Amino acid sequence: MTERFTGSFTQQEPIPDDAIAAANAVMRHGRLHRYNTVEGEVAETALLEEEFATLVGAKYCLAVASGGYAMTTALRACGVGHGDKVLTNAFTLAPVPGAIAAVGAEPVFVGVTEDLVIDLDHLAAKLDQAQALLLSHMRGHICDMERLMALCDTAGVAVIEDCAHTMGAAWNGVPSGRWGRFGCYSTQTYKHINSGEGGLLICDGAEDMARAIMLSGSYMLFEKHRAAPPPETFAQIKYETPNISGRMDNLRAAILRPQLKRLAEQAERWNARYRVLESGLAGTPGLRLTDRPDAEQFVASSFQFLLLDWTPEAVADVLGRCAARGVELKWFGGSEPVGFTSRYDSWRYAASQPMPASDRVLAGVIDMRLPLTFSLEDCALIARIIRSEVGAVYQGQVAAE
Ligand SMILES: *Cc1c(COP(=O)(O)O)cnc(C)c1O
Repeated sequence: MTERFTGSFTQQEPIPDDAIAAANAVMRHGRLHRYNTVEGEVAETALLEEEFATLVGAKYCLAVASGGYAMTTALRACGVGHGDKVLTNAFTLAPVPGAIAAVGAEPVFVGVTEDLVIDLDHLAAKLDQAQALLLSHMRGHICDMERLMALCDTAGVAVIEDCAHTMGAAWNGVPSGRWGRFGCYSTQTYKHINSGEGGLLICDGAEDMARAIMLSGSYMLFEKHRAAPPPETFAQIKYETPNISGRMDNLRAAILRPQLKRLAEQAERWNARYRVLESGLAGTPGLRLTDRPDAEQFVASSFQFLLLDWTPEAVADVLGRCAARGVELKWFGGSEPVGFTSRYDSWRYAASQPMPASDRVLAGVIDMRLPLTFSLEDCALIARIIRSEVGAVYQGQVAAE
């Protein structure tokens, strides 16, 4: 009998009961706006910022409306503006070059390796072209951060980390988001904590955070922030910084705080699922798994493998066969952007040079979500399905040669 998978790749776990209770409390008192507090009250949003800063060991934290907003705010706070060039990953998702375009700057794309991290040799060759790097830890793959920071520090290039897929992850024990000048996180439904939409921004620079807080739309209420620099830091900045509203509200923060407490536990559950898939797919002819170095403490909320140097027809065949058995795979090699996937050359508002080595990798990247609603048995079943369909198509290809 042919096995089929019947689960949903887009179904996350429900919001936990304590988070629902906290959200209800906010709705009952009605003070959803972060600056709407009564005497002695500390807003949920301010508490979330304080707790997240403590969790990652950052001095300052700001909760905002989305991960994309966190990135544009970081770029603006670094002084990036109209006509500037910003280095970024060729392998990432649309909100990343979109954040660069939002501040009027232009993305300069840096290639991807077979292990799905930024190509540091390619980066080194391009460092003289920009003042900032918006580094996307795409799908949770973390590059050699010591080498990246050494390169960027020497070149005077500011690093802003896009940690949409690395909340809770680390490189050599240092949390993702703590290497660069800013770390940006998303709390959108498909990320590691879920408030529908939302974002967090961290940094250690007092003036950087003062600018970010003013940008986010704090009016003159910055003293209500806790994970923030002292009021003196705002003395000039409050006059010079435009308000580009993008605050988080207390309802979202209330839902996120209990989830944050469980982040480490959830990360273990994700990684257990990842390991089942990885071992189920190991040694499949024609399929390449990505190497995960010991220094990389990842949180595997998704899974990738490569069908390197396969024809587009054969890749499409695998995708179709897996889909027929309930396994929804995404392909970054498609010529048209579909769903959440797109490629650097589909963002036609941004000029790009062809990158043959990266194109070869992108043409083979297969991507899959790993929601925690999947059991370990589900993951084993998914691996068996992929293994058999990749095997069938691969054997057909070899036979045809
Ligand atoms: C989701 C995502 C973002 C931005 O998050 P939003 O909260 O949706 O704006 C940034 N980078 C990557 C790689 C993402 O997947």
